[in-house]
Amino acid sequence: MYKMEANISIIPVAGVSVPPKVGREMRPDSTIVNVGGIEFGGTAIVVIAGPCAVESREQLFETGRAVKSSGAKMMRGGAFKPRTSPYKFQGMGEEGLKLLRELREETGLIIVTEVMDTRQIDLISSYTDMIQIGSRNMQNFPLLKEAGMSHKPVLLKRGMMSTIEEFLLAAEYILNQGNDQVILCERGIRTFETSTRNTLDLSAVPMLKQLTHLPVIVDPSHGCGLRWMVPSMAKAAVAAGSDGLIMEVHNKPETALCDGQQSLSLEEFEKLMNDLRKIAVAVDRVIL
Ligand code: PEP
Ligand code: MN
Repeated sequence: MYKMEANISIIPVAGVSVPPKVGREMRPDSTIVNVGGIEFGGTAIVVIAGPCAVESREQLFETGRAVKSSGAKMMRGGAFKPRTSPYKFQGMGEEGLKLLRELREETGLIIVTEVMDTRQIDLISSYTDMIQIGSRNMQNFPLLKEAGMSHKPVLLKRGMMSTIEEFLLAAEYILNQGNDQVILCERGIRTFETSTRNTLDLSAVPMLKQLTHLPVIVDPSHGCGLRWMVPSMAKAAVAAGSDGLIMEVHNKPETALCDGQQSLSLEEFEKLMNDLRKIAVAVDRVIL
């Protein structure tokens, strides 16, 4: 739309065109996104933990109870999974959503789960506190618009081949429909490097915080794809100014149906939470 182009501001320090609604120029104060009573974008850093996919009641509840006792405030878990191969586990569907809701009732953990299709938004919204739009759908424009029309907070993950400008424009689609409860998530991008699953672009954190008023969180699990590396990258994300973390944690990573190689065990997660508390203090913040 040419009219909107005219409003796009250029922040000279970054050389990026920032769309008006997500940009800090028209709205300098950071937006606080409230997800089921939990605030993203303030002083406190929020940790979201849980399996890549909901696999069973036992898996979800064992993992959920443990991450809660280690200090996580939110639980993640996909019920509809965007798998590269159509022959791999696609998620439990609505049964998975029901388990997530039950877990919320039992533990008080606030829930985020992915939506892949406009036709799923009403169903998924009726079960969850926040809807996730994944990396593969960051430029699914009908989905962005529909999420903008819903009244749910949206976790928007960076497209694996998207620039910062494209990421901000994707978020602008959601805000344009009247929903400003959007959290941006850096989750790694594709580069020439093959030793890690993706290249976690931690420079995106200070860059996004500079350009937009929206909260920014980091997913070190998909960002590097290696369980042993996740703690280092999680700590670095907090040091870099991230407003939160979303991490894959599994009660039995070695038998996970999805992304076990990058999922922390319950013990590894507990230790990491203790370390993160110390890093947070060093940058004048706290882990919620
Ligand atoms: C996920 O968080 O489950 C996921 C599929 O991540 P991404 O969209 O970042 O690949
Ligand atoms: Mn995953």
